[in-house]
Amino acid sequence: MFNAIMLRKSKDGSTTASVEKVDPTAFDSNNIEIDVSYSTLNYKDALAITGKAPIVRSWPMIPGIDLAGTVRHSMNPGIPEGTKVIVNGHGMGEQHWGGLAQRASVPAEWITRLPEALSERDAMGIGTAGYTAMLSVLALEHHGVKPDDGPVLVTGANGGVGSFAIALLAGRGYHVTASTGRLEHTERLKSLGAKDVIDRNTLSEKGRPLQKERWAAAIDCVGSHTLANICAQVHYGGVVTACGLAQGLDFPATVAPFILRGITLVGIDSVYASQSARERAWTCLANETTEKLRTNIASLLPLGDAIQGAHDLLAGRIQGRVIIDVTA
Ligand code: NDP
Repeated sequence: MFNAIMLRKSKDGSTTASVEKVDPTAFDSNNIEIDVSYSTLNYKDALAITGKAPIVRSWPMIPGIDLAGTVRHSMNPGIPEGTKVIVNGHGMGEQHWGGLAQRASVPAEWITRLPEALSERDAMGIGTAGYTAMLSVLALEHHGVKPDDGPVLVTGANGGVGSFAIALLAGRGYHVTASTGRLEHTERLKSLGAKDVIDRNTLSEKGRPLQKERWAAAIDCVGSHTLANICAQVHYGGVVTACGLAQGLDFPATVAPFILRGITLVGIDSVYASQSARERAWTCLANETTEKLRTNIASLLPLGDAIQGAHDLLAGRIQGRVIIDVTA
């Protein structure tokens, strides 16, 4: 038996979350079985654990969209027992039991080998947030953005994706402007690499279809009016990535920036990204994140504290990343 956070649906439709003992015979023997060391707490996990959004598609569910651990049982000679691995997304914590547990069982094709330069804890300090930030940075560059083009805006700056996006862009030589609702953490954002910090309220209300050109590019984590205003403020030919919905799922924009300024809006999906995109992102993350960055960005909680952590995350009481030690 192993410990896991288990989510159950009550008769009234609400979600209950508790630590339970789970029987591993429930696992599919064709899968790779993993002894999980660390998982993380992402925005999506917090929504699942608190039941604030319909993330869970199959009940009961072990949440956790990320895990790092060691292969315990494998029938696949390409991924032998003892291999250190990472798994992100693929519906874990939504349709498939996830990483907030001491054991997991996943198809072989979901597995990314842990880069040698990273420990399991390092990898979860990065987690889906850092990996999504890296996918966003690579997408900007794939669309031709270069450090000399001008300032790059990052929204949701104090969150996991935003914090990593700032550090990764700054490390590649970009001038980064961070947008946050928590200006009291300006020094932290500057220590990550932001040159300027702006109040997110300047972007969060309905704005004009075309505004003063301010940004060469942007990584947006919040959606809604913020994303619409960013599109209206990006330079001619600029690029914006959209990965999140912390402000809202809506996108109340016009086509004006697309047809009059030729801007590009790129969607970022980490969940079903191709294996080659994942490997490229994780290789860059291993090369471009320092021990200091990973330690400064992430705090560590034991498995049993993940439920309260989910409430804290949604209430805006957490900065950066949360690693979950599933063995504690
Ligand atoms: P976090 O909760 O760590 O950070 C979200 C940040 O958004 C907050 O820290 C806050 O930053 C900002 N924010 C919160 N509420 C609002 C609001 N009402 N208006 C404007 N800004 C707000 O989440 P993550 O960084 O892990 O994820 C960011 C987003 O990206 C989430 O929506 C998540 O679901 C999504 N995501 C998508 C992925 C994909 O594959 N597409 C993968 C991973 C995440 P501050 O305090 O600085 O203002």
